[in-house]
Amino acid sequence: MLSDTHFHFRILREDEEWTRAKVLQEMAAAGFRFALDIGTDADDLPARQDLFEQTFALMEGGAGANVQAGANTQAVEACKKFIYFSAGIWPDPDSIKNRAACVEALRKNILAARASSAPFRKKLCALGECGLDHHWNPSGADNRSQDDFDAAMISGERALFLAQLELAKELDLPVIVHSRDAAAETLECVKESGWGGRSVIHCYSYGQDEARAFLDAGCMISFSGSVTYAKKSKMEAMRGLLAYVPQDRILLETDAPYLAPVPLRGKPNNPTYIEWTYKAAAEARGVGVEALAQTVYENSRAFFGLQE
Ligand SMILES: [Zn+2]
Repeated sequence: MLSDTHFHFRILREDEEWTRAKVLQEMAAAGFRFALDIGTDADDLPARQDLFEQTFALMEGGAGANVQAGANTQAVEACKKFIYFSAGIWPDPDSIKNRAACVEALRKNILAARASSAPFRKKLCALGECGLDHHWNPSGADNRSQDDFDAAMISGERALFLAQLELAKELDLPVIVHSRDAAAETLECVKESGWGGRSVIHCYSYGQDEARAFLDAGCMISFSGSVTYAKKSKMEAMRGLLAYVPQDRILLETDAPYLAPVPLRGKPNNPTYIEWTYKAAAEARGVGVEALAQTVYENSRAFFGLQE
């Protein structure tokens, strides 16, 4: 019944406890309704889709999933229904420098997925993640800098984000926005694009005032397992923030393999761990986990335009 609106299948960590096949198997067994595999490079979509298909083959062969072969056919069918894809360009230095070519490659990959004759490969429902990261890409405001990061790169990062917002408008796709240490500038870009009502601020890391501003711009807000990290002194503020976002604007995500929620903090994350984030958010909002799961699913359907 749960949904994970943001995870990275290709970089999930495999170890003795978890393989990718086992993650999908457990997601199917838990009745997942929606899970969105997120892109970060202009060209990564075909390889990500290949990896799912290879993992499905492993599951159907009974290998790697620690379960009997026949049981997996149903799980694979379920996964083919609840898994969707996004494609977008994370603002790394190379993509910023080569942004015109990267955005063009992204457009081609999205159009190729849309034109595919394979139903699973057509399940592209969003553009992203894209945005501004002034933690990794220092703005200079806090005296940090990076040799290859100067004013031209900062304006290039913004240009790359704006170009993807424009592409999303052209292709009529919602946008998954990555924003770290860059709330005001992110808001400016989203407003400038006029695409705020089709944007989600993923892994939301700002406060209530910024939430008000993003909500006023029409954005959705998506919380990750980091909401379970608040220190005791900040716990009330975090609960207040979780309760503050209106029912029709909230999404939840893992951002796996990053940000495993407490009590699993520090482990490699995977979508099955999202139940802890649902518990924390449901408690703060004074609703049951099932009701919140229904809310997040309905919001996902509307925002990402899901068919099922
Ligand atoms: Zn991500």
